[in-house]
Amino acid sequence: MKDPHIIIAIDGYSSTGKGTFAVEIARRLGILYLDSGALYRTVTLYGLRSGRIEWNGRIDERQLQEDILLGKIDISVMPKEDGSMRVFLGDDDVSAQIRELEVARNVSAIAALPFVRNFVDEQLHRLGAKGCVMDGRDIGTAVFPNADLKIFMTADARIRAQRRVRQMEEAGQHPDFETILKNVQERDYIDSHRAMNPLRQADDALVLDNSHMTVEEQMVWLDGILKERFNLSIL
Ligand code: C5P
Repeated sequence: MKDPHIIIAIDGYSSTGKGTFAVEIARRLGILYLDSGALYRTVTLYGLRSGRIEWNGRIDERQLQEDILLGKIDISVMPKEDGSMRVFLGDDDVSAQIRELEVARNVSAIAALPFVRNFVDEQLHRLGAKGCVMDGRDIGTAVFPNADLKIFMTADARIRAQRRVRQMEEAGQHPDFETILKNVQERDYIDSHRAMNPLRQADDALVLDNSHMTVEEQMVWLDGILKERFNLSIL
């Protein structure tokens, strides 16, 4: 456990392995991992539970905004031994529920609302100010523009689709490769064309293309940078 007070911002396309990479860094450095997508998912879960998101996907923006202003969406996180995080909505551990399909279907629309983005940004600042490794789409550009280290992750879309297919097969599903590839490409498009804080590489971000890299090879790559810049090692 080294617990350095540094902020590492990791952004990139979906299914590039940002989460796996970030959790491994958090575990090895002994710092907090914050999954910004999980916070958007938690707001979405709140919206579904409270009826602010209706069955047809319509969002009652006025009520949702009022709930946020009244402090009704109480989000907290707790680090796990393996470096990952648990997320709570009030007293309720919602780490599993936020991964459900209904949340995934609605999260992009919720994450596109400016008042939701402002709310999540505030939470991320509150939780991560003392040092963290955080992953998302706009961390190095909007949430922590002064992060100590910024990494932009990318990988070939077909390889990312293959990874998703493998994950889903491991979960007992039988996905069609072309459908998953299309979904990956669509999410890339939506995330990089959103009006507010779209996914884009920060000017001072280091690019990591992990199309043909194992997690350990990514750690070796990062170790070189951490040694040079911060005199830290993760190997
Ligand atoms: O990373 P994850 O897939 O859990 O994120 C869920 C969704 O939240 C993304 O598809 C994206 O629309 C949104 N998101 C975002 N900005 C972030 C992180 C996630 O807009 N920093």
